[in-house]
Amino acid sequence: MNELNHLKQQVVLHIDINSYFATLLQQETPALRNKPVVVVKELGRSCVIAASKEAKLKGIGTGCSLAEAYQLAPDLVEMPAAFEMYFSATKRLKELFDQLSPSTEVFSLDEVFIDYAQIQKLYDSPYNFALKIQDKVKSILGEWVTCNIGIAENRFLAKMVGETAPKGSVRQVTAANKALILAQTQFKDVCGIGPRLAKRLGRIGVTVPYQINFIPTEVLRSMFGPFWSDELRKMGRGEEPLFLKRLANDLPYMKSVSRSITGYRLSSSQDLIMSTLYNLSEEVIYKLRKMKLAGRLVFCSLAGNHQFWADHLTLKYYVRHVSEMFDLIKYQLYPNWRNQFPVIRLHVGVSLLKPWSEIQDCWFPGWWQQEQISQAVDTLNDRYGLFTVTSGLLIQKEIIRPEVTGFLGDKKLNVARYFPEWKDSRES
Ligand SMILES: [Mg+2]
Repeated sequence: MNELNHLKQQVVLHIDINSYFATLLQQETPALRNKPVVVVKELGRSCVIAASKEAKLKGIGTGCSLAEAYQLAPDLVEMPAAFEMYFSATKRLKELFDQLSPSTEVFSLDEVFIDYAQIQKLYDSPYNFALKIQDKVKSILGEWVTCNIGIAENRFLAKMVGETAPKGSVRQVTAANKALILAQTQFKDVCGIGPRLAKRLGRIGVTVPYQINFIPTEVLRSMFGPFWSDELRKMGRGEEPLFLKRLANDLPYMKSVSRSITGYRLSSSQDLIMSTLYNLSEEVIYKLRKMKLAGRLVFCSLAGNHQFWADHLTLKYYVRHVSEMFDLIKYQLYPNWRNQFPVIRLHVGVSLLKPWSEIQDCWFPGWWQQEQISQAVDTLNDRYGLFTVTSGLLIQKEIIRPEVTGFLGDKKLNVARYFPEWKDSRES
């Protein structure tokens, strides 16, 4: 009876490699092991985009400035990011997970969800399966590489419990400890509750997800609007919020680079939606170019309160320029969005990726001109930061910068600052 119930329940594993960027560098160069290592986008940059576990123990984290980091750890080792290495390691991880399960979803470069329900007959428990994964990860990426694994009934809880587990460990959410975990996890470890939302929840005394259960729906609605109040309600109960549910169904995530943003208010402004799509496309292409990749599937999705629209185009050629990607979105995908609705979340991306080395260059003069412009822009953006050179579309717009959970991060991102029209009027 018990076993039957167990079989019916969904089980998800969330695997997260510990301190991915820094750990891979330590794996490659043993002299860096046991040292506080920080990764910067390139030497000369002052923002820490990743820290090794030794650096984290000293209080250094993503978003720290190098000056702060040196104060916390004078013996710091500063390393430039090795994006090609990270990408190739991610590729190997993905291949490993695909061998272990038919249903895996890459969530970021070093995070993946695995649906255990489909493979439960092969293993005696999800816990033992998790231990096996930890071993396999070491055998693929090296003995220095450890990962946290969270196990739960949905992605939201699996990610949350994995996030808070000690480094290199496996932790499971059960009926017995679920409420406790929801009552003990700080918002910084809750996927979907960013610093700004956490701050506003803090104003009504809510500091952990469990407390959301005690806030009346009218209060949630008046403070956060219908979209976020529903999402928060689910998170308080440990249910999967909408953005994680959509992961599996709608988005060709595999081997893709994408960027999304959720505003704080619905917007119907075509102008704002268009410039935001451009802004996100620019970041996607920047990341693709950094990894010397191009893709032949371009996708775009928009979400409102309860509405959702997504479309994609599969091409015969590979896209690697902002203008190519954005023109496809603007002239081929966006016009298919017929029943328009006010939008709160936008997402664009490119998938079916291939390294430049495996793609034949295009011979049209127009393409070469774009390539030369893109190379010049890359050089300037590399030296002075992304969006140093940008389109007229973004003039007089607040620009959305890369997110820390992407890579090339900038932790102190304040969405509302870059998204003034969606700023909640009640926010001071
Ligand atoms: Mg990680």
